[in-house]
Amino acid sequence: TRPPVPPTIRPLDPHAINRIAAGEVVERPASAVKELLENALDAGATRIDVAIREGGRALIRVEDDGCGIRAGELPLALARHATSKTDGADLLDIRSFGFRGEALASLAAVARLSLASRVAGEEAAVIAAEGGRVAPVRPAALSRGTVVEIRDLFFATPARLKFLRGERAEAQAIADTLRRLAMAEPFVAFTLRDLTDGERLVIRLDAESPDLGDPREPLRRRLRAVLGRAFSDGALPLEAERDGHLLTGWAGLPTEARGAATAQHVYVNGRPVRDRLLLGALRAGYMDVLASGRHPMAALFLDCDPQRVDVNVHPAKAEVRFRDSDCVRGLVVGTLRRALAPLRPAPALAEEL
Ligand code: ADP
Ligand code: MG
Repeated sequence: TRPPVPPTIRPLDPHAINRIAAGEVVERPASAVKELLENALDAGATRIDVAIREGGRALIRVEDDGCGIRAGELPLALARHATSKTDGADLLDIRSFGFRGEALASLAAVARLSLASRVAGEEAAVIAAEGGRVAPVRPAALSRGTVVEIRDLFFATPARLKFLRGERAEAQAIADTLRRLAMAEPFVAFTLRDLTDGERLVIRLDAESPDLGDPREPLRRRLRAVLGRAFSDGALPLEAERDGHLLTGWAGLPTEARGAATAQHVYVNGRPVRDRLLLGALRAGYMDVLASGRHPMAALFLDCDPQRVDVNVHPAKAEVRFRDSDCVRGLVVGTLRRALAPLRPAPALAEEL
């Protein structure tokens, strides 16, 4: 018998590489919106306006008043693994939302993209891309900041298109994504408009002004604007520190608990995460004040030296890894238990004292 003939090994072509990467970074319209909002926040925007059509499939437009991109660097902004946010030396010292330089390249690979930008004192310019093919930079008319338009998301990857849910579900996911990011950014104004049938204003959050008397007040007001009074009026303020980890936020009253875990907002260094350790600690903190099947409302903000948390675990950065996870868990559980102690049934309270 003849020995089997091995197939030839070849490098993937760049289009294929970008589409594979796009599948990890941009799963659905809401993940595209998340990446674009994060870019606007990284650019120091104070107002961000989002427009969508047909659940984001037909159109996602994000406009910001941030620092802009120099005309000469627009092609780099669309190139993979090109970023202005790290010197490449230390991926564990990350203070910005972005750092992988993948989002715009991914979107350019799977959609029709246009990126227009203006740096203060310079001319505005625009670059367009379609299914990975990038057109030359052209002059544009734009007063300031950056406008990104994504049309026909996933037209270049029909398999991905099939996985999208209905228009309403995708539009809802986009609104949730915007709210989650906006909750931690009280000084930035946000709007979300749905242009599917005419124009509908879905979200409007005005910028909160700083409060010199109580620095936490703007954040509290923003949380109230997003989560409603039910949360903010009765919520217990949290503030504790352990080993360089600072925990702040608000814990909702057990009476405001929900049937689903949809009102739990956890941030690490300003980044919204769905982290199992933190969500588990949140549950544990409420353990004996909540009936099983009930889920607390809470907004937790954990801040620490970026060196102590790895956000580079997950392409969408939804999960993080703490260097000292026991400390973080203990901090969250302990702080919540202390805040909730007055509400606990008597025997447990006695135990605490
Ligand atoms: P990353 O955010 O990881 O750097 P992206 O692909 O999201 O990668 O963006 C690439 C680069 O384009 C960024 O590093 C930034 O310099 C620039 N950029 C993208 N969006 C904006 C924006 N809204 N305002 C200013 N610069 C932007
Ligand atoms: Mg980015």
